[in-house]
Amino acid sequence: MSSAVLCAPAAVQPAAVAPIVPGATPLLPVVGADTRVPLVPGGTARYVDLDTAASSRALEQVAARVTEALPLYSSVHRGAGYLSQVSTALYEDARATVAGFVGARGDDVCVLVRHTTDALNLLAGCVPDGGAVLVLDCEHHADLLPWQQRGPVTVLPTGATVVETLRALGTELAAAPYALIAVTGASNVTGESLPLDEVVQLAHAAGARVLVDGAQLVPHRRFSLAGSGADYVAFSGHKTYAPFGSGALVGRRDWLDAAPAYLAGGGAVQEVTVERTSWVAAPHRHEGGSPNVLGAVALAAACDALAALPAGALAEHERALRERLVAGLAALPGVRVLRIWADSAEPTGVVSFTVAGADPGLVAAYLSAEHGIGVRDGRFCAHPLLARLGVPAGALRASVGVGSSLDDVEALLGALDAFLSAGPQVPYAQVAGRWQPADDPRATDLSSAARGAGCGPSVR
Ligand code: PMP
Repeated sequence: MSSAVLCAPAAVQPAAVAPIVPGATPLLPVVGADTRVPLVPGGTARYVDLDTAASSRALEQVAARVTEALPLYSSVHRGAGYLSQVSTALYEDARATVAGFVGARGDDVCVLVRHTTDALNLLAGCVPDGGAVLVLDCEHHADLLPWQQRGPVTVLPTGATVVETLRALGTELAAAPYALIAVTGASNVTGESLPLDEVVQLAHAAGARVLVDGAQLVPHRRFSLAGSGADYVAFSGHKTYAPFGSGALVGRRDWLDAAPAYLAGGGAVQEVTVERTSWVAAPHRHEGGSPNVLGAVALAAACDALAALPAGALAEHERALRERLVAGLAALPGVRVLRIWADSAEPTGVVSFTVAGADPGLVAAYLSAEHGIGVRDGRFCAHPLLARLGVPAGALRASVGVGSSLDDVEALLGALDAFLSAGPQVPYAQVAGRWQPADDPRATDLSSAARGAGCGPSVR
């Protein structure tokens, strides 16, 4: 929080109007957009954040709302003081905003959690006993491991096309009873998705519910539980421009009310004796302990900011950036862009790729050290999918969002071109399995980083 406040401009900018050339400028201002970072060969560069799929920076509107709420922050729910009541209202209003943002039905429940992983582990404890879960092998580990751990689960191989994959899902649903299908809203590796309405239709016809892992969908496309018919959605604040430790599981009440408390503790109970405890209904049933009020406020502020964008603006912005990125990558020799399906609809702004003959970790280290560009490398917590795509050793991933612009994409393409034509300018070595500059003078402690970024006290 302190660095966010430190770097935030004094006045909050209004939401940007959609630019004439889509993608030319950020759609919404994010905190720290002009942050400069040191380069290993010397000098500094504007940090080019192409890792928004992992965590996105805070919107200025989010930081401003948190700053406004901070002096009012106090204990929630059981405090008698005025500020306790204000904090309780902030928290419960945030819950309502988050639920509204994902199109919750009137009788849905919104449980505020830490992140998507938390939400999916919570739901795994709520699927009725013995109920089987069906997932595809293209899921992020967060949408695979909780089901594996709970069991029984069937992990279906993802088909080469959307059509084949839907057919396989239909066949499996006809062959065995399932309580739940857990499906990605958008892949964290390729940004692709299955047509959700068709998945919902197949599942509901077979008596199964649908959980949408919305971690990569909700921040990037308008999503509605009521509109899609999906039963649950999970998503993370830190990928939704609200990096303050909050997320949500929103959906059908009955399973959530019947399940054991996810976090047993204060706030989740009606009455406790030494022998037995009676629990309150969801959402509080699953929110034991003191809630993250400011995280909820931040998440709601991000939801408000995204909801206020003109219809289609978000998709158009990301489409422009993705199109330029994919076209630029395709023009580079030896670069392969990964796709799960040959016939999927337009993906979100997540693009994974390989560079022939180059270790993804080395390329990522080079982009950071010599160009100040942040991308992700590795297997993206989707090991089965990377194996399916024929890249078990990993790939590179660039991802964009509302704070990204075409300049960011051009910076990456230019740096990759330089890598392919001239190679790295400084030596690199592997240390504990990670590539890094052999001699890296960049300090990573907060005060050095803030000084370098022009946010801290000036260097004497
Ligand atoms: N699902 C998907 C598709 C994701 O991309 C991620 C994060 N990379 C997660 C789930 C888990 O999110 P979190 O780390 O916020 O729990």
